[in-house]
Amino acid sequence: MAQDYPKHYCGVFGVFGHPEAADLTYYGLYALQHRGQESAGIVTCDGKQFRSHRDMGLVSQVFTGKILHQLVGHMAVGHTRYSTTGSSQLQNAQPLTISCRRGQIAIAHNGNLTNAVLLRDELEEKGQVFQTTVDSEIILHLMAQPTLGGTENNLIQTVRRIEGAYSLVIMTEQELIGVRDPHGFRPLSIGKVDGAWVLSSETSAFDQIHAKLERDVEPGEIVIIDKNGLRSLQAFPECARRAFCIFEYVYFARPDSVIANRSVYQVRIDLGRQLAREHPVQADIVIPVPDSGLYAALGYSRESGIPLELAFIRNHYVGRSFLQPSQLIRDFDVRVKLNLIPELVEGKRVIIVDDSIVRGTTCKTRVKTLKEAGAREVHVRVSCPPHMHPCVYGIDFPDRSKLMAANHSVREIQKYLNADSLAYLSQEGMVAATRHPKEGFCMACYDGNYPVPYDSSMDKNIIERRRARVESLGEALAKEELQPRLL
Ligand code: AMP
Repeated sequence: MAQDYPKHYCGVFGVFGHPEAADLTYYGLYALQHRGQESAGIVTCDGKQFRSHRDMGLVSQVFTGKILHQLVGHMAVGHTRYSTTGSSQLQNAQPLTISCRRGQIAIAHNGNLTNAVLLRDELEEKGQVFQTTVDSEIILHLMAQPTLGGTENNLIQTVRRIEGAYSLVIMTEQELIGVRDPHGFRPLSIGKVDGAWVLSSETSAFDQIHAKLERDVEPGEIVIIDKNGLRSLQAFPECARRAFCIFEYVYFARPDSVIANRSVYQVRIDLGRQLAREHPVQADIVIPVPDSGLYAALGYSRESGIPLELAFIRNHYVGRSFLQPSQLIRDFDVRVKLNLIPELVEGKRVIIVDDSIVRGTTCKTRVKTLKEAGAREVHVRVSCPPHMHPCVYGIDFPDRSKLMAANHSVREIQKYLNADSLAYLSQEGMVAATRHPKEGFCMACYDGNYPVPYDSSMDKNIIERRRARVESLGEALAKEELQPRLL
């Protein structure tokens, strides 16, 4: 049965201790624009007052000099959000803010909570009123609940209730806080600039503001930054299975970011090299599908010795199509983004390298364009394995019914694409290119092995079981009064 999973991927950013915190955040968000284009927002604080601006649109459309000037304060938190239609309303734009007995709190969240339905249910039963439909608001409500301890205990209790993928940047009136879920699904890094601390989804944002990368926030770690500096807590001393999203390396993160000490650019070159070793083919030229296939194509070309030609030219000024998504319009939509230089391919045996095939629409159009321009053979090489399963942790993949590889064999896909050959990188090859161990990754979209179960399976038994677990965890936490462990 087709299922509608929540779909939002996002960029989060935060600054502590800089007189121009809003401006730094603005430039940081620019570098995170690829992680979300629906809405953008910044909340600042001067130690007392929160000031915020959020709107639908790109960072460049949402903020003006005048608006930034009004966002006074030495602390800031920012967010870029992507979501699919339905939930893309201004009220869901982040950072979200709340005013409670603990003071004001702002939150920017990247990832999806997998027990959001149950937690929201539980909070609503207790009379909490939600202003938005995003799961991130649950975290604010949990944080707002009065607890015995101070910030540290409160944070630990909060993050031990939520499950799934979350990299969070939270701002209170005195602190900037970074949190990464115990599996470390989404990235989050710490940097420094002019004595100020910065947190960002990706390190490429640090480069924009001349910040220096200090280190990544570790899975399960909470970093609290205040006037005394940075202190670190481990909220999950029991050590969960690490599950960093490997698709961040393949496609999602910017190539100029560094994740877990590996340059994303270099990983993508190595994915291409590995692809060439696994799936060689006699051809005259290698063509990347820009921009995302560029680095793997370069790797493929270097490894195979077959020259690279940048035959597809990308139009950088294409916005979102507002026409009805008929098949014909979708085809125009795909073509308007890339134009082919036909002389480069006429009479040639061509390899095109793309980072992934999801629905297959993009690739089919590329093959057709190449054949119409007179390419003698078109061989498709994909720098990751076939996508067989949807993502429930924050990457927007369609449900299984629309995932090409979930419903067709490689041979069938090749026929559909009208390609002379088609080959995907193996799972082992993909992992090898990262130079990290397989056990540290979430590869659920490839192998169906979901590190954290998802509670909207509509299976009543699962929901009941999980409700009981949540309740017993709540009791355990109340009794145990978990002590923060300082690292
Ligand atoms: P398609 O096979 O037509 O669905 O398009 C696949 C292309 O979309 C890939 O070449 C990627 O560049 C890009 N892509 C892959 N995953 C995503 C995603 N989750 N959101 C947006 N674009 C994506």
